[in-house]
Amino acid sequence: MKVMTFLLTGLKNNLDYNKKNILKSINKIYINGEFVTPHGTATFDLISPVSNQKTGEAILGDQVDTQNAIAAAKEAFKTFSKTTKEERIGYLEKLRAIIGRREKDLTDIMVEEYGGTFQFCSMVSQNMVQDINAMIDVLRDFDFVQTHGNSKVFLQPAGVVGIIIPWNMSNGFIVTKLATAIAAGCTVVVKPSEMSTQQTQLMAECFHEAGLPKGVINFVNGLGDVVGAEMTRNTDISKIAFTGSTAVGKIIAKGAVDSMKRVTLELGGKSPNVILDDANLQEAVPTAIFAAFLNSGQACAAATRLLVPQSKLGEVNTIVRAVVQNIKVGNPQDADTVVGSMISKKQYERVQDYIRIGQEEGATLLIGGLGKPLGLEDGNYVKATIFTNVKNSMRIAQEEIFGPVLVIIPYKDEQDAISIANDTVYGLAAYVSSATKERAYRVASQIDAGRVCINGILHDSKAPFGGFKQSGVGREYGILGLEEYLEAKAILE
Ligand code: NAD
Repeated sequence: MKVMTFLLTGLKNNLDYNKKNILKSINKIYINGEFVTPHGTATFDLISPVSNQKTGEAILGDQVDTQNAIAAAKEAFKTFSKTTKEERIGYLEKLRAIIGRREKDLTDIMVEEYGGTFQFCSMVSQNMVQDINAMIDVLRDFDFVQTHGNSKVFLQPAGVVGIIIPWNMSNGFIVTKLATAIAAGCTVVVKPSEMSTQQTQLMAECFHEAGLPKGVINFVNGLGDVVGAEMTRNTDISKIAFTGSTAVGKIIAKGAVDSMKRVTLELGGKSPNVILDDANLQEAVPTAIFAAFLNSGQACAAATRLLVPQSKLGEVNTIVRAVVQNIKVGNPQDADTVVGSMISKKQYERVQDYIRIGQEEGATLLIGGLGKPLGLEDGNYVKATIFTNVKNSMRIAQEEIFGPVLVIIPYKDEQDAISIANDTVYGLAAYVSSATKERAYRVASQIDAGRVCINGILHDSKAPFGGFKQSGVGREYGILGLEEYLEAKAILE
């Protein structure tokens, strides 16, 4: 799917924040097929990212809630793990219909809760349906009993899976992971980010309506070092599927080893975008900017390092300036907004710190910079910021900023571009533009990243997604994603 076309399409949005003056209360979690009052009593303020006003409160689950959810999933696993392929396809089809029907609600709550742009969030909602579809296809064709050598190999569900999710694009990750878990016959406990409780509430309603047997899916809102830590520790969980920062991924991997849990870790990135010298710059450069500002730059796969031929740096800078001047930074609910607000004041400050670091490191600020755009002082808005003539050794080229900040790095020749692209601890995604497909493939094949997109921002719900190096462990989506939720048992006779 060409995401670019979508991003550039204006869409009508009917949201109206001003009508919502009543404080919201997220006071239930979902355990054993029911919305229940948590045992935990700690509260978390819901803060609008566009106004920094309090919009409500969530009650957070605690260790007891987590243990109750795990116990429910363990009990449900006894029967759910024995369901047939057809039964699981039936649940996924129901879920697909419900999520398709609630697409607008799912989009609206994303925009409202974390300030994701309407453009981006609409695309995420559409991808949810597409991802469930893809998993149905994969499941239909998958052989759970295979022959390897002279033996039968049984691929059986791994057990209770703990799913830990970040705040950006929260429901998209939940759907991908849960669709795979259901396809595999696993039961789950989901811990979303404490900053995603409103999105989670809606998603839990969708799963409830899908009529899955009680205990198969459980949602516990809560903090990482409370709910997430209990999931990592608890011996009744067989596998953790985590999406989030590399720092927290390492904590989880270390904790999981005590009970030898399987882990899938989808972590951070600093993805290179290599524009080769034969590429059409009028197409490749605007695409590169949209790839960098994906989800307002709060995307793990955002193409945040733009590698361009030294000889074309001046031309690239001119196009970049022209494109960025016309990009709308503003209210995420507006259909033409490309960069919305950062999720929180903390995230805003983090991005400001990196812009300051870039200036101190001697990178050339091409456009944007410190402070909020004029007229947007109340929200967590960052100016769309581009540094040029950046050295790959600089911190702004090496560290994940997670905001609308792109660095342009000049390279000498193709080999130099490949070595700069690989000179990072990360390896999640990469992008290559060229007029010659063979040339783009040649470069793509030498970049250490889990996904490389040629001439665009692309998504394929059946192709594996995951990271090389410190971008993660394991893969999601498609056959490889399904296999991560299965254990192989060979029976030899
Ligand atoms: P985070 O790592 O801070 O938090 C992710 C989740 O882990 C949250 O639910 C959090 O509560 C939980 N957590 C925190 N401490 C924990 C602990 N000690 N034990 C267990 N769980 C704990 O990430 P974030 O700030 O929510 O999200 C942004 C990060 O996620 C970025 O680094 C981004 O690159 C990464 N990310 C990766 C992908 C991917 O697919 N590779 C996708 C989206 C985001």
